Amino acid sequence: MLCPKCRAELSEDDTTCNVCGFKIGKVTETEQAWVLLGYISDKITADFANETLMSFEIPSVLMSKSGFFGNAGLALTSFFSNSDQLFEISVPAHLVEEATEILNNTLGSGWRSAKEEK
Ligand SMILES: [Zn+2]
Repeated sequence: MLCPKCRAELSEDDTTCNVCGFKIGKVTETEQAWVLLGYISDKITADFANETLMSFEIPSVLMSKSGFFGNAGLALTSFFSNSDQLFEISVPAHLVEEATEILNNTLGSGWRSAKEEK
């Protein structure tokens, strides 16, 4: 059995890769599940986030949500009040934690995690 992420050899009962920390489990299911990672308010930052994630081999998808601030429960209006653009960035479900950490480190306040509590 090989780690799906780094190809390290794993024993059958490993639940986490001891090389890269990848969580073994329902990989085939979770790999197909894309979840909303967070919001970015301008195209330049969004492209940068996309490229940064790609350099970590994390696939990401950007969706423009210009003029849409309707997500209930998320304080988007205040955060993006001076912005006329809004991008949603999505990554595969099993990479959300890693991607969140990377964007926190690279973008800082330039993005907002979808999980973040107000
Ligand atoms: Zn691994």
